[in-house]
Amino acid sequence: MIRVLYPGSFDPITKGHMNIINQACDMFDEVVVAILVNPGKKNYMFNIDEREEIIKELYKNNPKVKVVKGNVAAVDTALNEDCVAIVRGLRGLSDYDFEVQLAKVNRDISDGKINTVCLFADEEYQFISSSMVKEVFKIDKDISKYVDKSVHEKMKMLRK
Ligand code: ADP
Repeated sequence: MIRVLYPGSFDPITKGHMNIINQACDMFDEVVVAILVNPGKKNYMFNIDEREEIIKELYKNNPKVKVVKGNVAAVDTALNEDCVAIVRGLRGLSDYDFEVQLAKVNRDISDGKINTVCLFADEEYQFISSSMVKEVFKIDKDISKYVDKSVHEKMKMLRK
């Protein structure tokens, strides 16, 4: 049973994230999506419970996806959830330096237990980011290419 952790803020989950989750599901037995508090981010669109609800709803029919949340480091969440690796999605070179550092530190502080697997989204999803989606939404443009319909609906509800 090979289980991996896919940590992130997912504010909101995009089709880029979903593409990475699908790829991980094809490769591993279970994918634990972990909604973690990123100390560098302050202005969330959805609170952590809302983000959990959105992702659980999206994957309710996929037994390979488990959703957890918390204010715990990704490496500790991976250890607690019996994961062998952390999955990260790389969008481009700009993500690379940071991810290499993170991967090395996480391997180090877990005594070699937690490795990192980097995946690349399919081309049409590669450059989607949660922050870009929020900006495009703010100026009232169509975001249906970037997020699932249910996520779009939840975003629209915030406006009411
Ligand atoms: P974080 O707060 O850790 O940046 P995100 O929710 O923004 O969390 O992203 C979680 C993970 O998904 C990160 O590894 C990020 O690089 C990856 N990711 C996000 N969008 C994409 C995308 N379009 N293609 C590939 N990877 C992505």
